[in-house]
Amino acid sequence: MKTTKKDTCSFCGRPKEEVGILISGIDAQVCNDCVEQAYRIINDDVSLKKTQKKSAFILEKPHTIKKYLDDYVIGQDTAKKILSVAVYNHYKRLSQVIEDDVEIEKSNIILVGETGTGKTLLAKTIARMLKVPFAIVDATVLTEAGYVGEDIESLLVRLLQAADYNVAEAEQGIVFIDEIDKIARKGDNPSITRDVSGEGVQQGLLKLLEGAVVNVPPQGGRKHPDQKMIQVDTKNILFICGGAFDGIDKAIARRLNTKAVGFGTREKTGNVDKNNFLQYVAPQDLRSFGLIPEIIGRIPIVTNLDPLDKETLRKILTEPKNALTKQYAALFKMDGIELSFDEDTYDFIIDKAIEYKLGARGLRSICETIMVDAMFEFPSKKIKKLHVTRKLAEEKFNKAQLIMRSVS
Ligand code: ADP
Repeated sequence: MKTTKKDTCSFCGRPKEEVGILISGIDAQVCNDCVEQAYRIINDDVSLKKTQKKSAFILEKPHTIKKYLDDYVIGQDTAKKILSVAVYNHYKRLSQVIEDDVEIEKSNIILVGETGTGKTLLAKTIARMLKVPFAIVDATVLTEAGYVGEDIESLLVRLLQAADYNVAEAEQGIVFIDEIDKIARKGDNPSITRDVSGEGVQQGLLKLLEGAVVNVPPQGGRKHPDQKMIQVDTKNILFICGGAFDGIDKAIARRLNTKAVGFGTREKTGNVDKNNFLQYVAPQDLRSFGLIPEIIGRIPIVTNLDPLDKETLRKILTEPKNALTKQYAALFKMDGIELSFDEDTYDFIIDKAIEYKLGARGLRSICETIMVDAMFEFPSKKIKKLHVTRKLAEEKFNKAQLIMRSVS
């Protein structure tokens, strides 16, 4: 039988019998192999453009940044405001055309606040808004090169991974260094306290914070001679550091009582809010805590997070876009179950979070303890409504209290 043009692939010319599928268009046909090949070509081109692309972050005004943060983070107004301005200025700096030798300096930030008050959440939310790569690194795992632990460069590996190894994007990303207080110098005498995980790490961090071209082993781990390195310039990477700085409030209190303050009248001893000394945190307090002056100099913006009171915890539990109670409701809804809570169930959860001193982080584990039986049983039941009363919450919680105790 004669093969007509209609029975061949218009791209490779093979007849219908030789190909798997022949798809007909108005005036042409294409076989499955040619479709696959075309797909590969398009895909390669897209990924090439992706690696070449200079990051297109979205520059929002401080007001807009703060408003966005408000949707996810409850309270912490001072930190939000300072962070919004710092991030705005940082990204303005990236688009700056330098004239008259005025070069805007980097605005790395340090957030001081008790654990579970939203430091990581703030940094994460900002990165999500700006659509830039974001990495969280725990300062306690970092050690000076040559010691057991991770080299300082490992924090850039995480950022590269978050950027899908797109170096240009990583170079405009945000790194959150958690527990920066844990690498403070122990004691006040610098000569006897050069320790592996403390001052040495601070020294190592200096050049990264300031801006340097760093050789990064792409897969992380130790550097070795034949490993191919990726060069990352940290000049435009924004570093946000966080720490609880346990006990710093006492140092702040001491400073406020003994030092006459000139311009900063809000620090006048008479007006000091003694319930929250952290709000007066200043670079010199970080220094007396054990951060070396060079590090403090490279993290010029210092702000604090407020401790979470009952009212704030209640809001955190119920109000943000992805509030815990909304998350549980969404989970149950997927099984066609309507979930609701008594108001005093919230009180119970909040009281326990305060009692266990876990900040907002405690809310999650307490809710989990209360909800786990229901999450196990209800999907197999015919009941379509679950109302969590305080009595039920207390019952479930008390049953699991032993386990909770060992966790806290
Ligand atoms: P930190 O870094 O200060 O120790 P996180 O930001 O990791 O604390 O907070 C732990 C969890 O607690 C977050 O994932 C979030 O669910 C909740 N959380 C803490 N603070 C807030 C807040 N101010 N607003 C909303 N949620 C919060």
